[in-house]
Amino acid sequence: MAVHRFEATIRELKELSPSVKHFRLSSPSAFTFKPGQFVVLSVPNPSGKLVKRSYSIASPPKADEFELCVKGVPGGEASPYLFSRKEGDTLQCQGPLGAFVVKDEANALVLVGTGTGVAPYRAMVQDLLERGFKKNILLLCGYRHEEEVLYDKEFSHLAKLHDNFHYHPVVSRPAPGYRGAVGRVQQLIEAYAKEVNADFYLCGLTEMIDDVKKLLEEKGAKRIFFERYD
Ligand SMILES: Cc1cc2nc3c(=O)[nH]c(=O)nc-3n(C[C@H](O)[C@H](O)[C@H](O)COP(=O)(O)OP(=O)(O)OC[C@H]3O[C@@H](n4cnc5c(N)ncnc54)[C@H](O)[C@@H]3O)c2cc1C
Repeated sequence: MAVHRFEATIRELKELSPSVKHFRLSSPSAFTFKPGQFVVLSVPNPSGKLVKRSYSIASPPKADEFELCVKGVPGGEASPYLFSRKEGDTLQCQGPLGAFVVKDEANALVLVGTGTGVAPYRAMVQDLLERGFKKNILLLCGYRHEEEVLYDKEFSHLAKLHDNFHYHPVVSRPAPGYRGAVGRVQQLIEAYAKEVNADFYLCGLTEMIDDVKKLLEEKGAKRIFFERYD
């Protein structure tokens, strides 16, 4: 798939949580990608020097646009700039890049993500279900606080529509009275990921990936793919 360099216009910006924004961006018609791939944005840091940062595409392939979900990392070089953008502003993009894509559609999938690590799964899950994927897809997402849970309504809705799609979010530091599941994604794996022969996908920060990979290997999982955000 050819890598393109292009200027994308921000068509829509939405606050998904206090620290995460969703971007809908224009793309040239030649820009195609596989769900799970990412783009690289060139962004001025606070000193004005251009830095490059990667962002997973959070939408399935569409004719002339794509979506991103960006966490504002306090003190970060690039993400505060992205956070300060407005609808109509432009961003310098390069992509698609990466190989974190569904490897074998003959297998059941277990998708594990923390924070914005859910972004590539939004692309994969929508694409697979739209195309009539029949194997089980288990999506396990971990967050610190309940207000940080991303795309919850969308995933819950898809899980109601499709018998083969199962969605479980978990929160590690809930406010008193929180009614959802409390803990870490590791506990969700123990509770729900019973098919050890599934293909496991892990996305997020290294600490989670290393922990979960170790846990899965101890359980005998053989096909583990991951995308590290740091
Ligand atoms: C392949 C790939 C895909 C990525 N996709 C996304 C994405 O879809 N959405 C997204 O928000 N980020 C994503 N990232 C992370 C992103 O590229 C930047 O690292 C992030 O925006 C911080 O950049 P910064 O310049 O603001 O921070 P920097 O000054 O570079 O500081 C980096 C520190 O920020 C922390 N950090 C990085 N990413 C995150 C995060 N997502 N959540 C919490 N802490 C983080 C890490 O601890 C890291 O040490 C991706 C990274 C890679 C390699």
